[in-house]
Amino acid sequence: SLSDRLADTFKNLRTKGKLSPADVDGTVREIRRALLDADVALPVVKDFTAKVRERALSDEVNKALNPAQQVVQIVNEELVAILGGQQRRLQFAKRPPTVIMLAGLQGAGKTTLAGKLGKWLVKDGHTPLLVAADLQRPNAVTQLQIVGEQAGVPVFAPEPGNGVGNPVKVAKDALKFAETKQYDTVVIDTAGRLGVDAELMKQAADIRKATDPDEVLFVIDAMIGQDAVATAKAFQDGVDFTGVVLSKLDGDARGGAALSVASVTGRPIIFASTGENLDDFEPFHPDRMASRILDLGDILTLIEQAQEAFDEEEARKVAEKFATDSFTLDDFLKQMQQLRNMGSIKKMMGMLPGAGQMKQQLDNFDEREIVRTEAIIQSMTKAERTNPKLLNGSRRLRIAKGSGSTVTEVNQLVTRFEQAAKMMKTVAKGGVPNVPGMGPI
Ligand code: GDP
Ligand code: MG
Repeated sequence: SLSDRLADTFKNLRTKGKLSPADVDGTVREIRRALLDADVALPVVKDFTAKVRERALSDEVNKALNPAQQVVQIVNEELVAILGGQQRRLQFAKRPPTVIMLAGLQGAGKTTLAGKLGKWLVKDGHTPLLVAADLQRPNAVTQLQIVGEQAGVPVFAPEPGNGVGNPVKVAKDALKFAETKQYDTVVIDTAGRLGVDAELMKQAADIRKATDPDEVLFVIDAMIGQDAVATAKAFQDGVDFTGVVLSKLDGDARGGAALSVASVTGRPIIFASTGENLDDFEPFHPDRMASRILDLGDILTLIEQAQEAFDEEEARKVAEKFATDSFTLDDFLKQMQQLRNMGSIKKMMGMLPGAGQMKQQLDNFDEREIVRTEAIIQSMTKAERTNPKLLNGSRRLRIAKGSGSTVTEVNQLVTRFEQAAKMMKTVAKGGVPNVPGMGPI
């Protein structure tokens, strides 16, 4: 899958001090292949990889503590951008009823979506009406009536002998009905064919003209693969739509269609359908979809938390100190103070199975201890802080007295400092932490 491919790619991008253009090109090649395998359209892939490449070769990445992490972030950010950036909410009319028209191929999930939307709108305090304007298939009206009943939402259907075979008239009648009965939202289900079809496209366009919808939602099956782009373009040209609904996201599809449709049509994805039940439905969140595509949700959260807490330039300097044995007690204190800012550090360590040792240390590490550590280190001379080897018995006694602690506490602090320096030296050289499936991050 796309996610597996990307995970493998990032695994190969081990911790490196600096990424060479060759590293970047290799990675971008893998991302490109992964996207193509996931049925993302070629122009979209080209555009995407060009952006990632440019940013991956920039200073932004090479100044970072861990370029691999930066590249993950960039890929994530660019995915979110293609998927529309911000979540786009359903637009309601200033004066009700709000008209929402559904369009898409047969089997895409329109009728099911009408029920899902209806139920969701009721929950949100609206009074929706579903309209059966698919008069193409014999049982289409009945199907919507069943769905409406399940959702607890009324359905407007043509009366026998009045409007049968004329979906435009049914839609117009439904709007009048909604106005008199004060339904505040009208969801119009329409007909679709297995393939794009000129006559049905014109029918949908006519319904649109007659009802002037606030939203035209193009429903597309996420499993459709490479056909997604052609289908979406045909509907954009034929009917035009204001938003996209991705259906059947519960299947194997990782989101290639989502990337292509959003990018090629420039229309936002508004909802995601994730099953046959009426509750399997949610507003679409570009950032969550990007994480799903990357399948690195926890790891990205982890990276974000770490980035917020540490000033990157500072962290890079400290890493250099670890690696070259020039880490001092002053640095140690600064690190502790920074760790305090990380808040959910323990939770974070919980996500890194390889970091059990660190987690244990963090469990032992509370606020009072930071205060005591500060007092002890501040009682040391500049020379002692820079070179802890100077700390003989009499100096330790002096520091204990000066900081209101015991010699044992001073000894413990020095030992912990030495352990931390040793452990962090390993980390700086790319040892722990080890994330399964990703190697050292
Ligand atoms: P329409 O022809 O566009 O109206 O599509 P339907 O609403 O009739 O749906 C076609 C089939 O897909 C039905 O069997 C639905 O139960 C199923 N379906 C619709 N949405 C989803 C979804 O999100 N996930 C899954 N697994 N099936 C869905
Ligand atoms: Mg239908």
